[in-house]
Amino acid sequence: MNHWIKTLNAVKGVMLLTALLTGLGGMAQAEPLELTYLGTAGWKITDGDFTVLVDPYISRVKLDGGPGTSPEDTRPVVSRSDYFVSDTLLIDSLVTEVDFIFVHHAHFDHLADVPYIARKTGAPVIGTETACNILRAYGIPDEQLYPVRGGEDYQFEQFSVRVIPSIHSALNNKHYLDSRTYTEVPEAPLRVSEFIEGGSLMFLVRFSGHEVLTMGSMNFVERELEGLRPDILLAGVNQSQLGLYNYNERLLKVTNYPRVVIPTHWDNFRLPYRFSQQDAVTLKLLPFKEDVARISPQTQVIIPTHLGTISVE
Ligand SMILES: [Zn+2]
Repeated sequence: MNHWIKTLNAVKGVMLLTALLTGLGGMAQAEPLELTYLGTAGWKITDGDFTVLVDPYISRVKLDGGPGTSPEDTRPVVSRSDYFVSDTLLIDSLVTEVDFIFVHHAHFDHLADVPYIARKTGAPVIGTETACNILRAYGIPDEQLYPVRGGEDYQFEQFSVRVIPSIHSALNNKHYLDSRTYTEVPEAPLRVSEFIEGGSLMFLVRFSGHEVLTMGSMNFVERELEGLRPDILLAGVNQSQLGLYNYNERLLKVTNYPRVVIPTHWDNFRLPYRFSQQDAVTLKLLPFKEDVARISPQTQVIIPTHLGTISVE
């Protein structure tokens, strides 16, 4: 067999192997996903063609003006009894094309910028009844809203999403439970404190050959995640999960030790983007990364930076 026939056969072999692997995967070959961290639990995820936003909280108001804020941040202090005002200039500079918005729960640091973004882009929003009623208060029409409670598995043209019932972080050292919901449309504008939780969700988003499991809180209902096989997990990492039983072990095990884990909701959201988050990285992310390396050595933990983009093949 001469050299070029051998080469041809080798090429055919590679093509066959690729076809087999694609066939085994049961779906088209995965395209790279780009995940841009918007801070807090906020993400932009795109395959270059289709773009979703998750909990896009961009205003990062100087809440309460106490611990966690910086004297170098010259913006006005915002208290919980103030009406929430989005930083529309900043949002306009960062958010252009959006095809879909996912909201985990209706607290201000997840939902409060969504009325402006939904109105500006016309992007549909998936969220709880409470989140949707707040968006209705700001004039977002019903056709743009997909109210869900968890358990839905919806097929759309370019993606599918399984909505997963979840629970909120165990705030106040586990003395937290807020059962309030908006079953009717509240009056806009809302004060910061009027962005109530309204129940918590997770999402399994399937697109471009990837399965991304998103979290908006540092807690989860283990049985609701059984059988899921995400290749990317946006894992809630903060201090409040430390009081939960074996959080890291249970989360990684029940999600089948994802290939890529990216911590979310770990930063100090009272500070604008340009401020250092090194304290949070040192306190929360480095110990988390070390623990994941112990539990699941083959998992890659990627530490995100504000407005930095992570590409996952
Ligand atoms: Zn919350």
